[in-house]
Amino acid sequence: MINLQRSKKLSKPISLSQQEKINWMKRVLYKAKLVGDRGEVPIAAIILDNKGRCIGYGENRRETMKDPLGHAELVALKQASWIKNDWRFNECTLIVNLEPCPMCAGALIQARIGKIIYGSHDPKRGALGGTINLADHKSAHHKMIIENGLMEEESRKIILDWFKDKRFLAKENLLSKIR
Ligand SMILES: [Zn+2]
Repeated sequence: MINLQRSKKLSKPISLSQQEKINWMKRVLYKAKLVGDRGEVPIAAIILDNKGRCIGYGENRRETMKDPLGHAELVALKQASWIKNDWRFNECTLIVNLEPCPMCAGALIQARIGKIIYGSHDPKRGALGGTINLADHKSAHHKMIIENGLMEEESRKIILDWFKDKRFLAKENLLSKIR
């Protein structure tokens, strides 16, 4: 018979100093920039366990993999669940440069992630307050700690610059066809 009882007690997400959070976000932003250079919206995410070890990394690969589920947070969750051999993330912290969308926020609630730290708000698609707050929604059976606005300026800039470049390239492309 399979024993579904959890033997270990639930532990809490690690308490990081501001400098540690910044150091992790800098790595996330560095990776996100590389993701953007490949033509994807520049988003990257990491998951830390309760000892502060990175057990999951994900980057947006929707275009590369032609995968609607290829968001950075979901890719990181997949990797970390494989490493943990568990779907529960109560003791884990996810760090991402952009506020999660409804799909990712929903998945993070389902995964019972302990803490989410994100950089830039997303007033168009954000699901932790930007458009809807799924963390406060009555369907959210799990309460998460949410910290936002870490390196917000830098986080927002990387996304805005990417869209600006994309529009510029699209315009150039169009002009070259007209010429
Ligand atoms: Zn998402």
